[in-house]
Amino acid sequence: MASSHKVGFVSLGCPKALVDSERILTQLRIEGYEVVPTYEDADIVVVNTCGFIDSAKQESLNTIGEALQENGKVLVTGCMGAQAESITRVHPNVLGVTGPHAYEAVVSQVHEHVPPPQKHDPFIDLVPPQGIKLTPRHYAYLKISEGCNHRCSFCIIPSMRGDLVSRPVGEVMDEAERLARAGVKELLVVSQDTSAYGVDIKYQTGFWQGRPVKANMQGLSEALSELGIWVRLHYVYPYPHVDNIIPLMAEGKILPYLDIPFQHASIPVLKAMKRPAATEKSLERIQRWREQCPDLTLRSTFIVGFPGETDEDFEQLLDFLQQAQLDRVGCFQYSPVEGATANALPDPVPDEVKQARWERFMETQQRISCERLELKVGKEIDVIIDEMNEEGLIGRSSADAPEIDGLVYLSLAEGVNVGDLVRAKISDSDEYDLYGEVVR
Ligand code: SF4
Repeated sequence: MASSHKVGFVSLGCPKALVDSERILTQLRIEGYEVVPTYEDADIVVVNTCGFIDSAKQESLNTIGEALQENGKVLVTGCMGAQAESITRVHPNVLGVTGPHAYEAVVSQVHEHVPPPQKHDPFIDLVPPQGIKLTPRHYAYLKISEGCNHRCSFCIIPSMRGDLVSRPVGEVMDEAERLARAGVKELLVVSQDTSAYGVDIKYQTGFWQGRPVKANMQGLSEALSELGIWVRLHYVYPYPHVDNIIPLMAEGKILPYLDIPFQHASIPVLKAMKRPAATEKSLERIQRWREQCPDLTLRSTFIVGFPGETDEDFEQLLDFLQQAQLDRVGCFQYSPVEGATANALPDPVPDEVKQARWERFMETQQRISCERLELKVGKEIDVIIDEMNEEGLIGRSSADAPEIDGLVYLSLAEGVNVGDLVRAKISDSDEYDLYGEVVR
């Protein structure tokens, strides 16, 4: 029976789902399971699903089908698992379904179908102290809370994941410290709503290294900055207190990078979305942030074609883009998500209008992003190296989050390795990426 403790794992979805996968895998490895890369070698397969949009759901269902066909013993977890019947309707033979963050439940389901090795010796079956990471060694996602207290009308995350639950700040800091000690050079702070961190635990002060740390975004950011590595904040909801962390960015304590989804700029559309309808203020704030921290990179996401969006609303959105001059922008055409309250809104926008608006939006923003990148030509910037091949080095600057933003392509340089932080001079740019040379 020595070989019957092999688990196959398929992780779909966003970086937050990846964090869940890492936790489950770490636990299984600690217990002595082997993680194998093929369906044939596995005794059981776990599929961590994504249920955010319909295409992701379809991908999840296809993957489950493939795993059932190739292996036969399949456990399903993750976002889509929150609506178990949407899975069991199509795949009645799955062995179990759990929702997001169900680490213990997944592990105990694995136990049930493939009992853990009898003689696991933690001193022999080594698991690195930072856990198993699916991301490259030098950056890691740090999840600080689950769930969300907002009820944006297009989103079903709160109904799948529940209200905000913050992790105690001491626990978050211990994990961050472990990761830094294990060689991680960049922490990507993720949650559904990073700026709400601590609200559910009344910002209760925790302890790290015997010192008090306040459980709010500012306290956590300050403590994280002491680790001496890059700290990047994702999914920051535009609350007024976001202003308080801009000075930390200006002082170089955390990366001058703000991932702040505005979603739209027209007041009626924002109201229908149940988002803060404060476009004028947002523009003023952006201007103030840039005065305080000129290197600030702003990333945002928007939805076009939301029910009821008129030509005028859309023109206001384009106007906002022109004025805000955001650096990185993602744009989605609205598509109804099963269970979202926005589905009941009147005046759906026809598909061809959505497409036309999306194209105009992308054209406008591409010009802006391109111009903003051009401003970096001739400058020296810090770059973290993610990859190296015979053609050169591929890295990212403080303006580029992994997987979603641009890259910096550099010529090969002696003594530079993956995970290193180098200083580079930028000689060229295009719509997304920068090009240059290592200077030291
Ligand atoms: S803040 Fe984000 S996660 Fe929360 S409801 Fe809105 S879109 Fe969904």
